[in-house]
Amino acid sequence: MPRTVHIIGAGLAGLSAAVRLAAPDNRVVVHEATAFAGGRCRSYHDASVGMTIDNGNHLLLSGNHAALDFLRTIGSQHRLIGPPAAAFPFLDLKSRARWTLHFNDGRLPLWMFDPRRRVPGTRARDYFSLARLLWPKEDKTVGETIACNGVLYSRLIEPLLLAALNIDPSQGSARLAAAVIRETLAAGGRACRPLIARDGLAPTLIEPALDYLRSRGVLVRLEHQLRAMRFEGQRVAALAFGDDSVALGEADAVILAVPPYAAASLLGGLAVPNEFRAIVNAHFRIEPPAALPPILGVINGTTQWIFAFPGRLSVTVSAGDALLDTPREQLARIIWAEVARAAALPADLASVLPPWQIVRERRATFAATPAQDKRRPGARTTWRNLLLAGDWTNTGLPATIEGAIRSGDRAAALLDQTRPSMIS
Ligand SMILES: Cc1cc2nc3c(=O)[nH]c(=O)nc-3n(C[C@H](O)[C@H](O)[C@H](O)COP(=O)(O)OP(=O)(O)OC[C@H]3O[C@@H](n4cnc5c(N)ncnc54)[C@H](O)[C@@H]3O)c2cc1C
Repeated sequence: MPRTVHIIGAGLAGLSAAVRLAAPDNRVVVHEATAFAGGRCRSYHDASVGMTIDNGNHLLLSGNHAALDFLRTIGSQHRLIGPPAAAFPFLDLKSRARWTLHFNDGRLPLWMFDPRRRVPGTRARDYFSLARLLWPKEDKTVGETIACNGVLYSRLIEPLLLAALNIDPSQGSARLAAAVIRETLAAGGRACRPLIARDGLAPTLIEPALDYLRSRGVLVRLEHQLRAMRFEGQRVAALAFGDDSVALGEADAVILAVPPYAAASLLGGLAVPNEFRAIVNAHFRIEPPAALPPILGVINGTTQWIFAFPGRLSVTVSAGDALLDTPREQLARIIWAEVARAAALPADLASVLPPWQIVRERRATFAATPAQDKRRPGARTTWRNLLLAGDWTNTGLPATIEGAIRSGDRAAALLDQTRPSMIS
């Protein structure tokens, strides 16, 4: 008899688990609390800028193999765009210096030895400090592992790790930083090509996944929030959704793919990450100047990355907690002044704030400290038919699309291994 797998949460972790499990011998039902799928990776129509925008700019790298595999499966890999080679243009707002990092394709980091490819003001031997970050001691911060100062730090390591870990890198987990460096810089330029969903997160990652699932008979129930679970011995016996509840058969299983605070409230006693960092995005409705690259790294400003989309410039500020209380228009003006300088806009355009929006995600990711990293549970639970997924579970990666998708894939693989009824 086919079993039913209930997936709770239609973020990328839940969707990737559903995509892996969508097969004739599984009945899959996805239950999502809100009216939309995508969770922290979503698009919406914004009245202030009068266009559909993403809640935040999301950058993928060509080495994010689980994410690319997910996109291939749902048929939307072509919607991710990026340069043919790994090149990252940067601007220092203070010194006005501009440079482009050009990683070479192979694993041998020849770019470090070439002054035209590496960070200006650095020497090849400066990069040897990165080796200490590759295999760090357990439970150390980045600040306890390498010196968090100097030109290489401020122009390469800090922007890279701030974006990947979403925390001031000196406080960030060296274990998570090591995973990022192993899968990007140390893997060579082929793994470092920046990729963005130019037409939006929903048309690239979410809607094609929903189409894929629906075409395979998966039921996606929006506005269907799980309120409680009933346990019997070592298994989940029923799911309560408020107005209705579902009894689980012996072979049925649950993948809980909700954020950590929601998982903790459903499973009293589960230790989960409980500190978070914000990400702030500013969106401006303006046609990007032709000379502006699709992604520009910015240092010595509030702005960290500028993304050029059709009809819009968008700015990302990671670990943006200090900006949560800044009045919205004040913040928009500060960031717009930096964008205008970075894009070298003529004075008449620069002096007028275009239609704008500020999106502040307070709990964008868990705080990637060693202490919080230790609070991440694995996929298995003490209940044999309940698995966990989500970017906050112990994926070995920071909270990213790649981590969320790997967690969903892993939960699905564990279920597949343990058919028909035992997950232990
Ligand atoms: C502004 C911003 C920028 C980011 N930038 C990047 C980036 O550049 N690159 C990158 O790789 N990653 C980035 N991330 C991180 C990435 O978005 C997340 O890691 C990923 O989307 C997390 O997916 P998830 O499925 O684990 O969790 P979520 O997306 O949080 O999904 C959980 C889902 O569960 C639902 N839910 C909660 N409770 C219940 C319940 N009781 N019943 C049913 N459903 C429930 C929620 O509504 C939600 O839809 C960014 C995140 C943000 C916020």
